[in-house]
Amino acid sequence: MKADPQVQEDLLELPLVDRKLAQLTKESATSELKGNATAARAAVVAAEESLVETRTRIKDLEREVARAENDVETVRSRIARDQQTLDSGAATPKQLTDIQHELESLGRRQGELEDVELEIMERMEEAAKGLATAEGLLAESRARAEETAAEWDRRADEIASETVALEGRRADLVAALPADLVALYEKVRDRSGVGAGLLRHGRCGACQLQLSASDLSRIREVAADEVVRCEECGAIMVRTEESGL
Ligand SMILES: [Zn+2]
Repeated sequence: MKADPQVQEDLLELPLVDRKLAQLTKESATSELKGNATAARAAVVAAEESLVETRTRIKDLEREVARAENDVETVRSRIARDQQTLDSGAATPKQLTDIQHELESLGRRQGELEDVELEIMERMEEAAKGLATAEGLLAESRARAEETAAEWDRRADEIASETVALEGRRADLVAALPADLVALYEKVRDRSGVGAGLLRHGRCGACQLQLSASDLSRIREVAADEVVRCEECGAIMVRTEESGL
């Protein structure tokens, strides 16, 4: 294939543009900023779940407290009624003995129930502290998610506009270059990743292979408008003054 030496030199911008485009595509997929934003969103979901759990625990404890208070109240009113009977002086001696026994056991029962109530109240206090912590964590994680999302959005916008600009530049280049040269470039690029490179100081700009002295002397003999290709990677090797020929 033949191509004017200047055209071949112009072709060299194409792999540069393609490399930048590939870098942007890779960044889009693997950016740390994107990863941070995803992780921060997951942290918000976890914090929301934890808050819901804490609120449910508190509701359960509130019900337990109400139940315990009710139990204590039942025992207290029973004690008051017994006491009233005692104070009225109307009870028979047999009844008096029974009531006294009952009062003793009711007193023990009241003490036990009050202990239970106290223990639930303590758990309630702990849960209330947990609620404040969970609310704090959720607020923090939401702020962090907003921040990381904004950071990634900013970079994603930059990537998008850089990509559009590079694609525009690429289209201009392709339109200005001979179709057969571009077709060869694309074919090699599909196969080995890089379609063309500058032959620089005897080294292939695409695969970085250092050419042997005999290869270089052979290439030296090739006409300037002939398209030379790397035997290693197949890339179009563009010759300029930098080539070391
Ligand atoms: Zn090569």
